Amino acid sequence: MIHADFIVIGGGIAGTSAGAALASLGRVLLWEAEADLRHHASGRSAALFEESYGLPPTVALNRASRAAHAAAEHLSARGLLLVGMAGEEDALARDVGEMRLAPLCAAEARDRVPILSDAVIGAGWHDDAWDLDTDAMVTGAARAIRDAGGAVETGRRVDRIARTAAGWRVHAGDRVAAAPVLVDAAGPWADAVAGMAGVAPMGLTPLRRSMARIAAPAGHDVRGWPMVLGAGESWYMKPDAGALIVSPAEEEPAEAHDAWADDMVIAEALHRWEGAVTVPATRPLATWAGLRTFAPDRALVLGPDPDEPSFVWCAGQGGYGFQTAPAAARLLADRVAGRAPELDPATVAALSPERLR
Ligand SMILES: Cc1cc2nc3c(=O)[nH]c(=O)nc-3n(C[C@H](O)[C@H](O)[C@H](O)COP(=O)(O)OP(=O)(O)OC[C@H]3O[C@@H](n4cnc5c(N)ncnc54)[C@H](O)[C@@H]3O)c2cc1C
Repeated sequence: MIHADFIVIGGGIAGTSAGAALASLGRVLLWEAEADLRHHASGRSAALFEESYGLPPTVALNRASRAAHAAAEHLSARGLLLVGMAGEEDALARDVGEMRLAPLCAAEARDRVPILSDAVIGAGWHDDAWDLDTDAMVTGAARAIRDAGGAVETGRRVDRIARTAAGWRVHAGDRVAAAPVLVDAAGPWADAVAGMAGVAPMGLTPLRRSMARIAAPAGHDVRGWPMVLGAGESWYMKPDAGALIVSPAEEEPAEAHDAWADDMVIAEALHRWEGAVTVPATRPLATWAGLRTFAPDRALVLGPDPDEPSFVWCAGQGGYGFQTAPAAARLLADRVAGRAPELDPATVAALSPERLR
């Protein structure tokens, strides 16, 4: 039997960052089911930090995370270009206002991304959007757990959880661990993990989002191009290591599983992209999909369960798990330690598991 102060279930960005924040409070044992960290959503994201993206509690976490991302040198400049086509005037105007973008005419948009076609009738711009080094975030957080005397173990699929007088006994095959506090950072499986522990679910829904990686159009160096977002989040394109990633930005409800991209959905992504550019789509170099997992109100779920406070939720990261991670992990550790969180009380309440019971 392994003894720890905190057992964290899940080795994506949620579990590793929460574990790193908890490591100053006690010994952390993190168990990840897969053979490697970031196997699921955390290895499949668009890796963007965009402070105004999300509902108010998410934006508060984004803002509170910014300094930590910058200090860790996890940000590099990208910029965001919103584009609208004929018939999308209302969505374009709404997005420009809500995201506080500077309006651009179509010609100015083409100056920034020369493959945009005449179908683009207007645009919005801000340079406050950044690439995140998601690999460094996860490996850095795992290293912080180990450096503090904790352990990060892969290939440990938790299959049984028992409540004991002293806290929790957690089984992964023939391995057994015990700790007074259990942290559920199992992404789309978070409600299932709660079920194993006899804790009521939060009503989380995994939503699939797909991506195609295509070669850069011939004759174009895309590395300095911004993220390009279709009005109404109808599709997006982002430079990625000299190529482009293109997504239809779909939100397809799914069971928790190892998601993959559907050919028809990828075809739709490339169709929407082709509608906005002057170059033909080429055969994808790779395709993938990941699950973005949301609570019913689309805010993260961070803190002790109201009925079972030694069971701590770190779930519902949706499409914001990386950009919110530093502040989300600090909030979680503050709530576990009984410290006053840095975020205002209304935001803490909007992120708290209590709101969903
Ligand atoms: C296409 C796409 C684009 C995205 N773009 C962005 C972006 O630009 N910026 C951003 O901030 N976010 C983005 N996201 C969202 C972000 O990727 C997620 O919010 C984040 O990765 C969720 O992290 P997680 O650790 O909660 O979940 P996951 O990465 O899914 O990790 C959960 C882990 O728990 C493990 N687990 C489950 N059950 C058990 C068990 N019983 N025992 C042990 N381990 C278990 C799983 O194996 C898994 O590794 C995007 C997501 C997708 C899919």
